[in-house]
Amino acid sequence: MPDDIAGHSKKPGFATRLSHAGRAGTHVHGFVNPPVHRGSTVLYPDMATRKRMGAARFDQAMVYGVMGSPTHHALEDVVAEIEGGTRCQIVSSGLAAVTTPLLAYLSSGDHCLMPDSVYGPARSFCDEMLTRLGVETTYYDPCVGADAMEALFRPNTKVLYVESPGSHTFEVQDVPALAAVAHTRGAKVLMDNTWGIHFFQPFEHGVDVSIQALTKYVVGHSDVLLGSMTTNSVEDWETVRGTTLALGQYASPDDCWLALRGARTMAVRMARQMESALTVARWLAGRHEVKQVLYPALPGSPGHEIWKRDFTGACSLFGVVFQPGFSAAAVHGMTESLELFGIGASWGGFESLALPTSVTRTAGSGSFDGELLRLHVGLEEPGDLIADLETAFPRLYANFAA
Ligand SMILES: *Cc1c(COP(=O)(O)O)cnc(C)c1O
Repeated sequence: MPDDIAGHSKKPGFATRLSHAGRAGTHVHGFVNPPVHRGSTVLYPDMATRKRMGAARFDQAMVYGVMGSPTHHALEDVVAEIEGGTRCQIVSSGLAAVTTPLLAYLSSGDHCLMPDSVYGPARSFCDEMLTRLGVETTYYDPCVGADAMEALFRPNTKVLYVESPGSHTFEVQDVPALAAVAHTRGAKVLMDNTWGIHFFQPFEHGVDVSIQALTKYVVGHSDVLLGSMTTNSVEDWETVRGTTLALGQYASPDDCWLALRGARTMAVRMARQMESALTVARWLAGRHEVKQVLYPALPGSPGHEIWKRDFTGACSLFGVVFQPGFSAAAVHGMTESLELFGIGASWGGFESLALPTSVTRTAGSGSFDGELLRLHVGLEEPGDLIADLETAFPRLYANFAA
C-alpha cells in the first residue's frame, strides 16, 4: 500500500497520527477518548473572562455552544491532520462544507469557475442560490490545461473550484497547474477533496480551502452526516470560520464523537477498500460488456498519470461505462439483481453500493456513449462481490431477447 508519508522520515506514519490526533487537552481524565460535550451555555467565572472570551471566536476557546465544544475541536484537529492543514471547521454536512466557503469568498458581482464534473448539489447551489445573489458561474472542462484556464478568468473571478476526481465521471484535474493560474489572478482555490481524503494533500498542491464530506470514509459507517473545511493560513481560517459563525452552522457533538471513532480505523479501512476496489475494477475491465472503467488508480483508466503524480492512494469509488448496445433499462435490471451491492446514494461506508447514473454536463466534458454505473466497494470479501457481479451480468442481455 502506498503511504502518504513515504519519504518524510521525521513524521510518524499516517495510521499512527490517526491514532493519536485530537486526544490532547480535552479533559479526558485519563480515558482514551474525548467524551461528548453537549451544551449551549458556557459559564464564565467573571465579567473579565466573558470579555476575553468574546474576542476568542477564532480560537478553540469555549465561548458558546455554537462555537464548538472540546468534542468538535478534537475532530477538527483530526481532520486537519488528515488533510495536512493548520485549522479545520466542522459543519453539519458535506454540502454545508461546499456552500459555506462559496458564500465566504463570493459577493454580488463576482465570478466563480466550477468544474463541469462538480458534485450535483454544488452545481444546483451555484445555479440557484449564487445566481440569486448576483454571482455568475462558468462551468469548465475539468481536464482543461493552464492556458485554457487562463482564458476563462475575468477581472472579477474570485473563486476557482476544483473537485478531483469529478463526481460520477472521475476526471482527474491538474490541480497544481490550475491553482497556479488562480493565484496569479488573485483568486482563491476551493477543493472538494472527499475522494482523495488523505491520499491527496491539498495544501501541497496549491489549494486554499479543502472541503470534505466526512459523511463518507471518515465516518465510515453510513450513519452520520458531517462536513469539514480545512485551511492552511490565518486569513483563510478567519474567512471560513467567520462565515460559518455568521450562518449559525452547527454540528451535533454526538455526531462529531462518532466521526472521531470512525477516523481511528480509517487508515486500515482505506487500505483494504482500495485493494478490493482494484480487484473488482480489474475484473470489470476484463468483461466485454464493459467499455471503460473510470478508476484513476487503475492503470489505463483516464487520469491515471496525474493520479500517479499527485495521489498516494485511492478510495474505493469508481465508475463503469457499458458498451453502447446496453440500454439504461438493461443496466437497471442488472443492478437490481445484485445481492451484495445496495442501490443508494452516498458512499464511504463498510458496505458496497451500485448506482446507475446520468450526469448534467454543459461544458462539453464527460459525454460517454454508454450507460454509467457508479460502484462503491465496501469491506466485504472482493471474491464475493465479483461472484455477485458475475451472476448479475447476464441480466444485461434480458432486453436483447425481445
Ligand atoms: C457526498 C458528497 C458531498 C456531500 O456530503 P453530504 O454529507 O452527503 O452532504 C460533497 N461532495 C462530494 C464529492 C460528495 O460525494
